[in-house]
Amino acid sequence: MANTRKNPRSKFLRIVCPRCKKQKTVFGKATTLVKCEGCNYLLLQTKGGKSKIRAPIKEVLWK
Ligand SMILES: [Zn+2]
Repeated sequence: MANTRKNPRSKFLRIVCPRCKKQKTVFGKATTLVKCEGCNYLLLQTKGGKSKIRAPIKEVLWK
């Protein structure tokens, strides 16, 4: 068995814009701001090097 600790945030997430319901795939450890392509809503915010997702997560995509 592999004994590697994986960061739970190092995965891709499919989030839904709470404003216009447009879906977007983001990296959980993103270090840059992510805005909705449809309405410019701020989906992912960064604070102190950590990312904060401001939209509901619809699906977790392992990669
Ligand atoms: Zn939107």
